[in-house]
Amino acid sequence: MNPPAPHPHPFLQGEGDIFKHLFSSIYFQAFVFKHWRVAAHRAVTSLIIRKSSIVPFPMKDRIKDLAIALAPRLIEIRRHLHSHPELSGQEQQTAAYVAGVLSSCGLQVREAVGKVGVVGELGGQGSDRRLLAIRTDMDALPIQERTGLEFSSRTPGIMHACGHDVHTTVGLGTAMVLSQLGHSLPGNVRFLFQPAEEIAQGAEWMVQDGAIENVNAILSLHVFPSIPAGKIGIRYGALTAAADDLEIIIRGESGHGARPHEAIDAIWIAAQVITTLQQAISRTQNPLRPVVLTIGKISGGRAPNVIADQVHLSGTVRSLHPETSEALPVWVENIVASVCQTYGAKYQINYRHGTPSVQNDLKLTSLLESAAKEIWGSESIQIIQEPSLGAEDFSCYLRHLPGSMFRLGVGFSDRRNYPLHHPQFEVNESAVLMGVVTMANAAYKYWQ
Ligand SMILES: [Zn+2]
Ligand SMILES: [Zn+2]
Repeated sequence: MNPPAPHPHPFLQGEGDIFKHLFSSIYFQAFVFKHWRVAAHRAVTSLIIRKSSIVPFPMKDRIKDLAIALAPRLIEIRRHLHSHPELSGQEQQTAAYVAGVLSSCGLQVREAVGKVGVVGELGGQGSDRRLLAIRTDMDALPIQERTGLEFSSRTPGIMHACGHDVHTTVGLGTAMVLSQLGHSLPGNVRFLFQPAEEIAQGAEWMVQDGAIENVNAILSLHVFPSIPAGKIGIRYGALTAAADDLEIIIRGESGHGARPHEAIDAIWIAAQVITTLQQAISRTQNPLRPVVLTIGKISGGRAPNVIADQVHLSGTVRSLHPETSEALPVWVENIVASVCQTYGAKYQINYRHGTPSVQNDLKLTSLLESAAKEIWGSESIQIIQEPSLGAEDFSCYLRHLPGSMFRLGVGFSDRRNYPLHHPQFEVNESAVLMGVVTMANAAYKYWQ
């Protein structure tokens, strides 16, 4: 089921609605009111200063003011996207909407990159030819929304529960701001709007389709409800884990439930395999290099009094260090083989490396940190002490070039924050502006 087609002029769409919805958020009201007065004052001062050519207006203030002026549009865009979620690989309407906004900002737009992805190219006037990419993801999840928001999903069973509507908005907002810098932008920026992050395939589709050709560095973000809005989470090094898929088939020999000595019990051997794998993690893996192995699905057997001849196990394996990740298939097979050999069973293993770990480049992470600090102050930075064992297909780009992803705090201070992928997950919308300003300032500073 496709959501209704977006309005051909996304900026102008439902302006009545935006004011109605906008002022329903007290956080947003307070935020915009606080900053609007400062922005207006700066705009006037800037005109006076430029006219008399005394002191150049700081670019960070210009970026912030442009974003503040765009704030109502950004909330409108975010709410439109939130109401019209699409599943991984089926983001046609979202992609068309994104392409419309990028075109209206004067970017060169390529559609259907990486199946349904969009690429927008913004050419700066400067002499620095290094190309920076900014990547956002566009897909939603098969979840029935239960937030009760006025702009809830209009598509039953599909919800933007991972904040990719916010990511897409931040990507568009950054394009809007940077496109207004005109000749002040020192280099070229490529905006990647990728599909299918939730199934960990979209980034690879984009790479295969040439989306990062000639790109020198890439930046991205992910919302994070446990970080309060008004803060940016920065992590140097490993941010997320490598996530691999594991399937094991154990083949024994069927027999009468009362005569186990005449059979090879695949269920009992599967139990031994699971137990041995879990024990071996604690005894044979370096405890400073974490590995999590979860068998999430098991099936086998035909009747209570018949010994099972076959069991299927499937699960996920998470690790942080690339060398550990590389060694895991052999490590798993050695354990499964030794248990099966001991009890006379046969086995088959399918181990598929999924997304690698996101390893944030130190220089680009420092760029993100200083870009946020410069505008929002050092109290806005939350250094993330521990990586997550979740997965993120941003790592597929990092196989080819350096990059960094920051966490955008979207938590509320006065109410429960539901986790990502929860049907009641909500975003504190004041974070949208912070995401845009931070990303745009980081992009500008990339060439400094
Ligand atoms: Zn997700
Ligand atoms: Zn996500």
